Amino acid sequence: MQGKSENIIELKNITRRFDDNGFIAVDNFNLEIKRGEFVTFLGPSGCGKTTTLRMIAGFDMPTSGEILLDGEDITKVPANKRPINTVFQRYALFPHMNIFENIAVGLKIKKLPKDVIEKKVKEVLEMVDLEGFENRRVSTLSGGQQQRVGIARALVNEPEILLLDEPLGALDLKMRKEMQIELKNMHERLGITFIYVTHDQEEALTMSDKIVVMSEGKTQQIGTPEDIYNEPQNAFVADFIGDSNIFRGIMTGEKKVRFCGGEFDCVDDVSVGTVVDVVVRPEDVILTKVGEGTVSGVVTAVTFKGIHYEITVECGKNEIVIQSTKTPEVGDPVGIKLDPDGIHIMIAEKNTTTFECTVDKWYNLEFNGETIHCDLTKLIPGSRMEEEVLVNQRGEVVDPESLKVIASIEPGDIDMTDDRDQGLIDGQIINLIYKGDHYSYVVRTEEGHDIIVDDEYLWNLEDQVGLILPEDKLHFELKK
Ligand code: ADP
Ligand code: MG
Repeated sequence: MQGKSENIIELKNITRRFDDNGFIAVDNFNLEIKRGEFVTFLGPSGCGKTTTLRMIAGFDMPTSGEILLDGEDITKVPANKRPINTVFQRYALFPHMNIFENIAVGLKIKKLPKDVIEKKVKEVLEMVDLEGFENRRVSTLSGGQQQRVGIARALVNEPEILLLDEPLGALDLKMRKEMQIELKNMHERLGITFIYVTHDQEEALTMSDKIVVMSEGKTQQIGTPEDIYNEPQNAFVADFIGDSNIFRGIMTGEKKVRFCGGEFDCVDDVSVGTVVDVVVRPEDVILTKVGEGTVSGVVTAVTFKGIHYEITVECGKNEIVIQSTKTPEVGDPVGIKLDPDGIHIMIAEKNTTTFECTVDKWYNLEFNGETIHCDLTKLIPGSRMEEEVLVNQRGEVVDPESLKVIASIEPGDIDMTDDRDQGLIDGQIINLIYKGDHYSYVVRTEEGHDIIVDDEYLWNLEDQVGLILPEDKLHFELKK
């Protein structure tokens, strides 16, 4: 059954927008899946995994883009004409039928001869290790066994591709672990392509040949489990996969980066002055005696985790989580060292500061208890002010409480002051670098947000500053 193309499935610029609310659940998604591969869509709830799977299955249609099967466009081919079957989280077994009848449903619809149906059901029951279960009732089976029946019911159609949407989500931990191994074995034995959906990173890492990390309808990274774990492409992936420390840093020299109040050697060659996200895995942090590390801090928590301890160290304004077999005490001063290859540098996505404002009853924006003026009629097409109330295109009064506005500003447009009460936001300078004609600062707020500010004057590390955001430099956008 060798196809023409090495890729059994290709998704090309797939977008799915829901008409009723205009919500974009899947945003320009591109993916190639090789024949026989075990591919996993991994991402938090609501990121578009199920929607993508439904489009592959043919239960839903993309708003734009193409789905290719063996190189041929199947975007408009109905679900029952695709060699694809789905296993859902809820087993969706029919409780009033026995196991044989549950599995045979589809074959009976196809009007296959009785003896062929019996043979096929027997075969798939063997595949999922439930031989002899034909006459059992659904209610007498455990969750894991029911899920295996669900898989058998999909396999009996001899699909080329099996889609599995969080198939183990309803099982307890022990059963889930067992089924993970079983599914993986089954994949190897059957040689068919598996497209698997989970929000559980450990499940994705142990089972997949290829992982697609998703967030808000977009792919964040596509790679092998090793790639994704060792070389996360951005802060989202690093944060989502495994435990990690993520710090805002600045490149201070050739393969040198400053974060957490120290300068570290790293292996990535990024140009000097670039603001970066630095990812450090807890198992890569080396605890030393105080004074012997690159930076020092104080232990604030120690938790026993079975094979190691999880130790939290406060280091200036930063918190570092460490896995170690050492057992310092809370309050101990310690040093921290890192090998260059334990430091992963990612170019920070954007240096624009954005924040969400509410709207008061006079239609002014409010943030941190301060008022910001913004002409809302420019944000809502067709709207106008009538006797101090905002009226939309259709002449209806717009409730100010229903509105949220995202304000944004560029690093060079923010002014710093040493009067913390003067600015809209205040914080502490945790990083700085000279960039030729100005300094680039990272200012951390009380809430832990990092704001990038470019300023021509020299401030010191750890200075407390107020940030003034001039109204004419702010850009506004309505939050949907
Ligand atoms: P996941 O499976 O990753 O949890 P889904 O693909 O189910 O996410 O949903 C992605 C987003 O699309 C969610 O925010 C969800 O609310 C939205 N969504 C899904 N189906 C519809 C629909 N029929 N109409 C409007 N919005 C939808
Ligand atoms: Mg889902």
